Amino acid sequence: MIIAIDGPAGSGKSSTAKAVAARLGITYLDTGAMYRAVTLKALRLKIRHDDDKALGIIMAHTTIAFEGLPPDVRVIMDGDDVSAAIRSDEVTKRVSDYCARDVVRAFLVEQQRQAAQGRSVVCEGRDIGTVVFPNADLKIYMVASVEERARRRQMDFAAMGVKKSIEELIRDIEARDRKDSTRANSPLMKADGATEMDTTGMTLEDQVAFIVGRAKK
Ligand code: C5P
Repeated sequence: MIIAIDGPAGSGKSSTAKAVAARLGITYLDTGAMYRAVTLKALRLKIRHDDDKALGIIMAHTTIAFEGLPPDVRVIMDGDDVSAAIRSDEVTKRVSDYCARDVVRAFLVEQQRQAAQGRSVVCEGRDIGTVVFPNADLKIYMVASVEERARRRQMDFAAMGVKKSIEELIRDIEARDRKDSTRANSPLMKADGATEMDTTGMTLEDQVAFIVGRAKK
């Protein structure tokens, strides 16, 4: 069984997808973490987002793996734990530029399909129901108001000891939404057959119960 969860930043995908995977005892695949890892590597190597040749080379020499069980899944790039580094402000601001490149997407989409081969997965991202797994058994498109999404991001940052104003977070989220939904390759959009869930007033438990209920049907 494949459950595809798409939606904009802060709509509740990650926490919900992790909890659904844990409850159903199936694999959790965080595709955003893969795009973040590649972005981190490119930034460390000072490779520009429009240098397709250099990006192609790093894609061919990068391994990304996940270790552990949800909710404590670690992201391992080239053998190093980059779970914290990929959530930095710089990576968050730049990831939409790198992930829009065809060379990056082709490579990671292939890895995502391979990771799901022969197993049940909950996969979350921006193009899961539209491009990666268009035949997914269950497709969910999560949305929430931008204020609510900024508030959630503010709490995530606070947990990392970083203070951010709601205004700045709204600006960042809107900029990322704009880039993610207007790019030429696999823009963020609701997939055919996806159920839209507005998580603005929902608790995590409501979101998980809704998806688990649908999956069991
Ligand atoms: O989900 P998360 O916020 O970690 O994703 C980081 C970025 O990776 C998104 O803003 C988007 O630019 C990109 N992404 C993507 N396709 C996916 C998952 C994430 O383009 N399937």
